[in-house]
Amino acid sequence: MAPVETQQYDYIVLGGGSGGSGSARRAAGWYGKKTLIVESGRSGGTCVNVGCVPKKMTWNFATINEMLHVGKSYGYDIPDNIAMDYTHFKNTRDAVIKRLNGAYERNWNREGIDLVQGRAGFVEPQTIEVKLADGSGSARYTAPHILLATGGRPNIPSVPGAEHGITSDGFFEMEDLPPKVAVVGAGYIAVELAGVMNAVNVETHMFIRGETFLRKFDPMIQKTMTDRYEASGVKLHRNHSGFKEVQLIRDGKGKDKLLKLIGHDGSELEVNELLWAVGRAPEVEDLNLNIPGVKLNAGGHVVVDEYQNTSVEGVYALGDVTGQAELTPVAIAAGRQLGSRLFGPPELKSSKLSYENIPTVVFSHPEVGCVGLTEPEARERYGDDKIKIYHTKFTAMFYDVMPAEEKAKNPTEMKIICAGPQEKVVGLHILGLGVGEMLQGFGVAVKMGATKQDFDSCVAIHPTSAEELVTMR
Ligand code: FAD
Ligand code: NDP
Repeated sequence: MAPVETQQYDYIVLGGGSGGSGSARRAAGWYGKKTLIVESGRSGGTCVNVGCVPKKMTWNFATINEMLHVGKSYGYDIPDNIAMDYTHFKNTRDAVIKRLNGAYERNWNREGIDLVQGRAGFVEPQTIEVKLADGSGSARYTAPHILLATGGRPNIPSVPGAEHGITSDGFFEMEDLPPKVAVVGAGYIAVELAGVMNAVNVETHMFIRGETFLRKFDPMIQKTMTDRYEASGVKLHRNHSGFKEVQLIRDGKGKDKLLKLIGHDGSELEVNELLWAVGRAPEVEDLNLNIPGVKLNAGGHVVVDEYQNTSVEGVYALGDVTGQAELTPVAIAAGRQLGSRLFGPPELKSSKLSYENIPTVVFSHPEVGCVGLTEPEARERYGDDKIKIYHTKFTAMFYDVMPAEEKAKNPTEMKIICAGPQEKVVGLHILGLGVGEMLQGFGVAVKMGATKQDFDSCVAIHPTSAEELVTMR
């Protein structure tokens, strides 16, 4: 057998998703390092292919239906049951994603980054082997710096018949909407995908283990959003004890598929689709991390320090595989900082991402935006007597034309959490129409250490919902 030739690089990046791409581009594009990306799936990773991008496009699709409903109250003659062509939308969405895959690859190519498509794993502490996706065999690569940016994948619980359901990955493959769906889970993905399906008239059942969903969020968000979902038609199964079996009654797509869900409490429900949204696991399978000796935590995530160093010198990790704030801009920012630290000028040798005050938006219906501490976290950190809460709840002017019962279904709510005599803003929680766009600017202010007085000193923009954030008493 001929000896396997090992190609040498300055930087090898495993995973061409948000973090891997961000880091490779910094290393190659800014600092001219010979860089290789190994990607086993589609370029752009989770965000582009089965995450943020198709999710936000689907949220837009669903929002149009909600707006058509509001349009009637404005006097538009909009018929009931306007037909929607989900297959058309899905194909259009796929085409957008395909263009983005190409854009990623063109950017890498322009910056001199080599792309190898295949599955990577360590064969020696600083050497990886890639099983090439085109079936032509394998290839070996070595570098003094290797980045693990392999992301994560959806969990499927160990329930008999669970495989008959889908995860968020399968959701984006659906060519037809199921008339009736069960969503299991209470986090970002469950809330976002249940929200879009409910908004496009799919009978949506949500099974949550607690009294509310989004349990890691501020209690205001948990309560108002869970109640709002119920008011807008989502059938909530609170304090659910889980399923003991899932039976495939009829195989097919859309309305032709039929599943029976059998609960531990003996209850039964027939649905056309079952979506598991019960969290994600780090993608470390096949990496052979035992060869370099990279440490994992109890959840299987790669352990890193604040500089994204793993337990092994020359091996770094960031993004979802580390379980740190699993958001695309976080992975990108961490990747860029690492690229600058490893390959940039001396003044950047201590570059690292600050994980404090990361703003985040849940693309629910309506959207939720948060930055900083929840109220319980702030009380715990500063003490009850050091915390001041500002709170308001109202209906956005946009919904004023609607009947009272419809208005009640469309709340806007805001909470500003302040700490200390200066009333430094340590938490901001908002839900309602347009908050996804609203949060970014306030995120800058919170990151800069703004006080309530700073908020108040900014002249309001009228008439907006956002003005409440600078006029709250
Ligand atoms: P990924 O983007 O997952 O990239 C990892 C890549 O590594 C993958 O392409 C994978 O194929 C590849 N890979 C894995 N193992 C190997 C191997 N052995 N060899 C070679 N390649 C390998 N975040 C937001 O900020 N906003 C949102 O609105 C948002 N919406 C989301 C919606 C959904 C449904 C999901 C699932 C996630 C969403 N996220 C969102 C989270 C966001 O997508 C992730 O935080 C982000 O993609 C993480 O980037 P990453 O680089 O760590 O990993
Ligand atoms: P999350 O961690 O947000 O939520 C997982 C949820 O699953 C938990 O809330 C938990 O609810 C529930 N759960 C866990 N096990 C079970 C079970 N056996 N039965 C029922 N429910 C269960 O994970 P997601 O998968 O929703 O999202 C992964 C990450 O991706 C997010 O944390 C986020 O960082 C990112 N993301 C970001 C988005 C955005 O920025 N808009 C959108 C989508 C994802 P509980 O403990 O309350 O019962």
